Amino acid sequence: MKTKCKECEGDISIADDVVIGEIISCPDCGTDFEVFEVKEKTVSLKQAETVGEDWGE
Ligand SMILES: [Zn+2]
Repeated sequence: MKTKCKECEGDISIADDVVIGEIISCPDCGTDFEVFEVKEKTVSLKQAETVGEDWGE
């Protein structure tokens, strides 16, 4: 599977067995993303939370 980096719009390759909560790093810009949704062919990413940051309920 592939998705686009929100930072640099580069392609990110993602393993087919990716799980929610997994951290993916963009190979181009190094930004860390957390997987928050997995559908058949689509993975949605959000910017990974930094430790100590408010989770913002
Ligand atoms: Zn990137």
